[in-house]
Parts: sequence; structure tokens; C-alpha cells
Amino acid sequence: DVTDTKGSDFEDFFLKRELLMGIFEAGFEKPSPIQEESIPVALAGRDILARAKNGTGKTAAFVIPALEKVNPKSSKIQALILVPTRELALQTSQVCKTLGKHLNINVMVTTGGTTLKDDIIRLHDNVHVMVGTPGRILDLAGKGVADFSECPMFIMDEADKLLSPEFTPIIEQLLSYFPKERQILLYSATFPLVVKSFMDKHLNKPFEINLMDELTLRGITQYYAFVEEKQKVHCLNTLFSKLQINQSIIFCNSTSRVELLAKKITELGYSCFYSHARMLQAHRNRVFHDFRNGVCRNLVCSDLLTRGIDIQAVNVVVNFDFPKNAETYLHRIGRSGRFGHLGLAINLISWEDRFNLYKIEQELGTEIAPIPPTIDKRLY
Ligand code: ADP
Ligand code: MG
Repeated sequence: DVTDTKGSDFEDFFLKRELLMGIFEAGFEKPSPIQEESIPVALAGRDILARAKNGTGKTAAFVIPALEKVNPKSSKIQALILVPTRELALQTSQVCKTLGKHLNINVMVTTGGTTLKDDIIRLHDNVHVMVGTPGRILDLAGKGVADFSECPMFIMDEADKLLSPEFTPIIEQLLSYFPKERQILLYSATFPLVVKSFMDKHLNKPFEINLMDELTLRGITQYYAFVEEKQKVHCLNTLFSKLQINQSIIFCNSTSRVELLAKKITELGYSCFYSHARMLQAHRNRVFHDFRNGVCRNLVCSDLLTRGIDIQAVNVVVNFDFPKNAETYLHRIGRSGRFGHLGLAINLISWEDRFNLYKIEQELGTEIAPIPPTIDKRLY
């Protein structure tokens, strides 16, 4: 849990005064366990492989050391933060800007879906911290537009996703633009074995932090309901009328189902946004921005927004379609219950999903109970 700390204070890390101010102004009083464990080690320059639960403050755990180490007088890029999705890149760069508000540090965010030309122009100003998705960053490095030859920090959030077969070749190539002496920091809530080979190859005696335990999903109450496919919308309608939703995220397994469901929810008279990978980036950004600002109560999406997204007002996650594996399940339902808040996860289970439900429950060592007729509001 985020309160299970050894009792460190942010002052204990001897950070620059301006950085401390940014941290306190963000409303952070005490470091969370992952911050307490990883900030001093990262400051000391060691490689890190850190695993900690969703919503426990991993972002600041790597952003704070990065901001501390940057020399604003230099004109070089000094930290790269890689993330798997565009929305997460925006969110993470925002954390850098908020915490680094009183430092003279330039943070640049770049992702696919914007023009390369704009990036080139933006790089004329000194960029100290670069946040982005792998494809675009490699593009900039390859074209010699972004210079990482003196960049000492290579950070990957949702690292296991970035080391999946889809991204690994890009990551490996990108690393070749970095100096030999560099620090690599990997953070995620899930680390399957694939990460091991990358680690053995590229990390230098990494300091391993593992703050996962059997209570991984503490604070999130999980229920399932058996529903036939054609009854799912009806079931969702009932949930909407019964639950006290602050904000909800509703996951579907395909982009076409996202659009279809969003349309049906709107027809039922509930406000609803949707987002998926086949939408234009500008549109996706607007949806994400507006949802975060509470313009709309419900968001239907694909697994695009499964990882890392941090919106504290979200207290209910619905798996309208049940995910295929435990890892996706864990990341999806971790969108609620952020930083000690409580959350509710509801799974609509069709006949074909029944074995998968059992499998995921076993794998995560968690309990997904049948949905009761009434759900105590104090649980979420
Ligand atoms: P994770 O990446 O581990 O899932 P995030 O980095 O997204 O978690 O943080 C979750 C939430 O907790 C964010 O809203 C963040 O502002 C908040 N948070 C992080 N660290 C602290 C802290 N030390 N004190 C209070 N709130 C914090
Ligand atoms: Mg995160």
C-alpha cells in the first residue's frame, strides 16, 4: 500500500530546493514505498529494475531523480523517458513539468501522429528531458535530429510492454545512439520473463525492487456477472443506474466494439466518450484531455488506455469484454484505485470467458466474486 513506508521524507534525498518546492506544490507530502526505494538508488547512478503496483507513484519515482540530475545550463538531452502510448507520453511529460516547475528544465514530448517538422523546430530550443513513444524517438535519433550521444539516462515506463517483440528491435536500435556509460531504469507492475534477456544483455548489476505481493489488488473490489452477449448492454444500463460512478472506464476488445458500445451508451442517455487506436491523434488527445478534466463521466476504450493512465476520479472499471490474459486484466483494473483510493472492477462474463475468468483469478491469486444485488458504496 502507498502508506506502508519506512518513513522517509522528500527532504532526506537532498534534492535541489526548487525541485522540492515542485514536489510539495504537487501535493506530495511523503514518498510512497516505490519512491522511497528507488529515488536514492537512481540518484546514485545505478541501473534499476523496479516492480510496483499500479497507482503507487512509479512516475515520480523516476521523474524526480531525472529532474535532479539534469543540468539546465547544458544544452544536451540528459534523460529519455520512453512509454508505450501517446496518451501516457502526454501524461508523463505533464508530471515532469509539474514537478520541475521551478527548475529551468525544458521537457519535450513527442509521439507518432504529429509532424516530424514540428519536432525538429522544437528541438532548436535546448531540450533536457525527452518523453515519447519508441518509433518517433528512434526516427529523431536516426535522422540525427535528436542527439543522445551524451544522454546518461534511459528510462522505460511500462517496461515489459516496451520489451515485447513489437518494440524490442526499436529499443535495441535506440540504445545504440546512447553512450556506453548510461543508466537504465525500468519500471512496471508486470515483468514477464521476456524482460530477463534484455536485462542480462544491457543492464549493469541492476538494483531490483519488487513491491508486489499477494495484496497487489488491495483496494479494488472485483466482481463478475455472467451475461449473454446480447444482454451485455442491458446489464451495463442496470449498473449505471445502480452504481455511484464518479468516472468510469469501460473496456472492449476491439475498436469496432468500442464505437458500437459508445453509441449504445449515448442512446441510453448517459454521457460517454470513446477512444481507440484508429482515431486521429488530435481527436484522441482531446478525448483524453477532456475526460481527465471531468467533462464526461464515462469513457469506452480499447487496450490503448490500459496501461499507466492515471485519473484519480475513476472509481469504476468495467470489462465489457473480458481480457484475454492476467496481465491485461491487472493493468485494466488498475485504472481505478489510484494512490490509495478505492475502486470497483466489474467483469461481464460470457459463456466463452468462463474458464479464462477462473484462470486469471488463479494466476493473480485474487478473488473475483459474483456481483451482489447491492454494492456497498464504501467499497469504491
Ligand atoms: P503508477 O505509475 O505506479 O501506476 P502514478 O505514478 O501514475 O502511479 O501515480 C499515481 C497517483 O499518485 C498520481 O495521481 C500521482 O500524482 C499520485 N502520487 C504519486 N506520488 C505521490 C506522493 N508521494 N504523494 C501523494 N500522491 C502521489
Ligand atoms: Mg505508471
